[in-house]
Amino acid sequence: MDTATHALIGLMLGEMAPEDIKHRRKIGLGFAMLPDITNVLFVHPYLGWLAGRDIPFALGIDFINHPEIIDHWTYHVWLLSHSLLFWAIVFLPMWRKSRTAKLAAVAYVSHVLADIPSHSGVYGLEPFYPIPFVFDGWFDPWLWGPGPIAASIFVSAVLYLAVWRVRKSVLWPSEQTDQTAAQTGIDATVVG
Ligand SMILES: [Zn+2]
Repeated sequence: MDTATHALIGLMLGEMAPEDIKHRRKIGLGFAMLPDITNVLFVHPYLGWLAGRDIPFALGIDFINHPEIIDHWTYHVWLLSHSLLFWAIVFLPMWRKSRTAKLAAVAYVSHVLADIPSHSGVYGLEPFYPIPFVFDGWFDPWLWGPGPIAASIFVSAVLYLAVWRVRKSVLWPSEQTDQTAAQTGIDATVVG
């Protein structure tokens, strides 16, 4: 899945979260993109260099031409950041700490869950890494050209707008009491 689609899914989660979580949209967006930081920092620069690119940053085709990447430590760091086991160990203990941590954990796992079906064959994710089990996904959006990627971003953006619209009327209990409090305030002013 491309980064922009992940980001929009995160933004959607942030939008759905209760309003009183500070920076909820930024947290959703940031943590939904975070697992791929290992891709940007390690896998793509190394593979780009391996493939002899002028700018050392790999393209999708370089993965096909250099399957040996799956034995390299950079790829294993990427597998780790996409592991549900890693997520459970790092994020779940923070679950009860705050609602901000909860949102961050949900956004992070949204990335992993979206990537599990969307990497197939030897490039399948290892959901329980470091336990070696490759999940053979159903399709490979990471090999898509600009057209399908643009379509994916467009669909996610439309979904985000739908969520944004729905959230105007679907409120969390905390938001409802805020509204009631605000109304009571207004009534009190009127009465006063
Ligand atoms: Zn990813």
